[in-house]
Amino acid sequence: MALHRYVEGEASDEELSVRPQFTQFGEVGPLPRFRMPRDGMPADSAYQVVHDELMLDGNARLNLATFVTTWMERQAEQLMAECADKNLIDKDEYPQTAELERRCVNILAHLWHATSHQGEEATGCSTSGSSEACMLGGMALKWRWRQRLEAAGGYDLARRPNLVMGANVQVCWEKFCRYWDVEMRLVPVSAEATHLTPEGAVAACDENTIGVIAVLGSTYDGVYEPVAEIAAALDGLARERGIDVPMHVDGASGAMVAPFLDPDLEWDFRIPRVQSINVSGHKYGLVYPGIGWVVWRDTAALPDDLVFKVDYLGGEMPTFTLNFSRPGSQVAVQYYNFLRLGFNGFKAVQGASRDVAQYLAHEIARMDVFELVSDDFCIPAFAFRLRDPVACGFSVFDVSEALRAWGWIVPAYKMPPAIEDMAVLRIVVRNGFGRNLADDLMEDLALVIKRLEGRRHLTTEERTGFAH
Ligand SMILES: *Cc1c(COP(=O)(O)O)cnc(C)c1O
Repeated sequence: MALHRYVEGEASDEELSVRPQFTQFGEVGPLPRFRMPRDGMPADSAYQVVHDELMLDGNARLNLATFVTTWMERQAEQLMAECADKNLIDKDEYPQTAELERRCVNILAHLWHATSHQGEEATGCSTSGSSEACMLGGMALKWRWRQRLEAAGGYDLARRPNLVMGANVQVCWEKFCRYWDVEMRLVPVSAEATHLTPEGAVAACDENTIGVIAVLGSTYDGVYEPVAEIAAALDGLARERGIDVPMHVDGASGAMVAPFLDPDLEWDFRIPRVQSINVSGHKYGLVYPGIGWVVWRDTAALPDDLVFKVDYLGGEMPTFTLNFSRPGSQVAVQYYNFLRLGFNGFKAVQGASRDVAQYLAHEIARMDVFELVSDDFCIPAFAFRLRDPVACGFSVFDVSEALRAWGWIVPAYKMPPAIEDMAVLRIVVRNGFGRNLADDLMEDLALVIKRLEGRRHLTTEERTGFAH
C-alpha cells in the first residue's frame, strides 16, 4: 500500500487514512538481529517475539541477588501503567504528579528527622535511583567545600578535593569521584570490621575533604555503618584540628528499613553532621525500578548554584536532577505505597523480610559447612561463607552455580580489597519472599551441599560423567 500523501484539493472523504502501523504487511521473515528490519509486522507478532525472547531471563522473584523490588500489588502495577506516559519534568503539564513528588520528599524528610519538618518545605527530589541521588549529594558537598574555602580566602585551583569512604562502598561512589574529579579516599576494611570505622574515617580526612560517606546497609554484608560514632569522631576532629567535615548517608537500602525497624538508632538528620541522605525507592521503598530520592537537611545544605528553575503553573519550580525526562510512574507508586501501607504497614513488611532473613541466616549457620560473615542484623540481607573452603573441596562459586539449576539466583563474590580472599554468598530478602520460599531454598541448599560433598571423593572423570 502506497503512503497516502496530502494533496491540496483532493477529495479525501472517500478514503480512510490508515496509520502505517495498522496496514497489512507481508509475511514476517527472518529478522536481522542488530539492524532494524526493513518492514514492520503486526503488533501481536512483535509482542510475541519480544515476549518469547525474554523468557530466557531469570525469574525475578527467585533472584536473591538484588535489592531491587520484584513484586508489587496489582493496584500499584496498574498505577504504574497509567502514569507511564507522563513526563515527570513537565511540572506545568502534570502538576499533580509534581505534587505527589513533593509530598514524597516531605514524607521522607519527616521520616529522617530533617529540620525542615518543623513547618518548612523539605529540600530534595526524586531521581532515577540512588546512583543519581548520590551524584547530587556528592556535588552539593563539593560545592560547599569550595564555598567554605572561598569564604575563608583559602581556595585555589591547585587544591584537589577528596571524599572519604570505606572500601566497601557501592560502585556509584567510584563513579562520582571519577566523573566529578574528586580524589576517592578508600579506607581499608578488615575481616573484623568489613565497613568504615570512626578511626579510619578521621585518619583519612584533611582540609580538602568534602565529606565522609557512611553507608546504611553495606551491599557486601548488609550491616549498617556506625553513623553516629563516625559523626562523633568527626566532631572530635573539628574540635582538635579545626577540620569540619560534613557527612552524607548512603541509605540506598537502610534508609527505608531503619526508620521502621530500628527507630532508636540515630543515623539520620538527628545527627547535625549529616547533611544529606539518599535512598532507592526501588529497593525497600517497594517500587519497581527506577526511582531514588535525595533529601538535604535544610535549604542551606544545597547550594543555590546547583538549582535550576522550570516553569510550573505560571510560576517556577526548582529542579536539580541530572536527568531531564523520566516517567511519572514510579513517583505515583511511591506515593501509593506510603498511603497504602502507612508507617505500621511498612514496619510489618520490612519486619517480615528481616524475620525471614534472620531465619535463613540462623538455619545456614547451623549447617556444618557455613558460617555467617557478620552476626549484626541490619537490612534484610546477609553474607555467609564456607568455614573451610580448602578442606571441603568446593567453593562458594560452585554452590552458587549448583543452586542456579533449581532456579535460585544466589550470588557468590569476593569481599572488598584487603579481604578479597574472602569469598561469600549473599542472600537479600525482599517483600514477596516469604517463609515458604525460604524453606524451599533451605531444602535445595542442603541438597546442593550433599551433592557437592558427595562429588568431592570422585575422580574428575566420574565428576564429569565421563566414566558412564
Ligand atoms: C543499590 C545501592 C546503590 C545504587 O543504587 P541504585 O538505586 O541502584 O542506583 C548505592 N549505594 C548502595 C549502598 C546501594 O545498596
